[in-house]
Amino acid sequence: MQPLLSIDAVSKRFAAHRALAEVDLVVEPGEFIALLGPSGCGKTTLLRCIAGFLTPDEGRIRIEDEDITRAPPYRRPLNTVFQSYALFPHMSVADNVAYGPRRAGVGRREAQARAAEALALVGLEEMGTRLPRALSGGQQQRVALARAIVNRPKLLLLDEPLSALDLKLRRRMQIELKHIQEKLGIAFIFVTHDQEEAMAMADRIVVMNAGRIEQTGTPEAIYRAPATRFVAEFVGEPNLIALEPAGPGHARLAIGGAELPAASGMRFAMARPEDIVLVNGDVPDDLATFPGVVEEVLAIGPLTTLFVRCGETVLKVARLGMSGVELRPGSPVTLGLRPAALHLIAE
Ligand code: ATP
Repeated sequence: MQPLLSIDAVSKRFAAHRALAEVDLVVEPGEFIALLGPSGCGKTTLLRCIAGFLTPDEGRIRIEDEDITRAPPYRRPLNTVFQSYALFPHMSVADNVAYGPRRAGVGRREAQARAAEALALVGLEEMGTRLPRALSGGQQQRVALARAIVNRPKLLLLDEPLSALDLKLRRRMQIELKHIQEKLGIAFIFVTHDQEEAMAMADRIVVMNAGRIEQTGTPEAIYRAPATRFVAEFVGEPNLIALEPAGPGHARLAIGGAELPAASGMRFAMARPEDIVLVNGDVPDDLATFPGVVEEVLAIGPLTTLFVRCGETVLKVARLGMSGVELRPGSPVTLGLRPAALHLIAE
């Protein structure tokens, strides 16, 4: 299958500041991509280069066979949804959505029919005659989405479109937006600095840091097998246990001292908080165990996190529900982990 979007070695500077450094990315038709990274890492700059609001200094952007690196925004077969949805307040919802096709020269009746179809897709078929101010924030966001898809672009760019919504509505819209995207079959590139949002929605996550792509992969690969320490620490709250060399092809965990196979150059073993268990009684053979002392118990309902001091390091241990809340700071515990389940990181 031919890729929908190909980005080759795109770089962009603002004066002395390098906002994008040789970024490569390939997006397949119908894919949901999340651009994830901290503030200032270049997500919006990359999105603007794809949309055509910025021109890269170097590199090339193609959609299917066409080089669009220097094409003006209106010539690109894509559309953008911004954080501020900026609906026309004096126009009905249906007219807001029909505005794009009308401007493109589509007749009034046909434009209204397309608007009705787009509104139905986002679940607002009953709301066409209302004014935007008579809708909730989430509904207004869906109108903005309908407006962006009414011309059936091949690619939709979304720049933090849910960040103005409160947390509950935001979580609901994440699921809705994902379903709408699947129904439409349009590829989405979705900018967010919220790792949970990226995990919940994307087919693939692109993690950016200081103008570069650190890793591109499925949510599962990003979570289970982060390529770098930056990715590991940006997504979730990992435990990074230092590795000490223990002969050729082997390393020793700085905590617990278990030996495991490791190529030279590997500096950390990552254990997610849910990979570390509390041990009572019988210990399975493949479990490495070591003692610790509880420092803190943080219960938030679905999850309880224990902060356990093991020598120099404090490890996070996740437990389901309220299990573990009976432990008190100062309680001695025995922790266990499976060396085979650790993910090794070089830098
Ligand atoms: P955020 O999540 O805060 O929106 P971002 O990852 O989208 O961040 P960008 O907006 O792409 O980051 O900005 C990347 C870097 O480039 C930042 O350091 C920013 O200050 C700088 N930058 C962006 N646009 C311009 C501009 N027009 N002129 C000068 N510097 C800019």
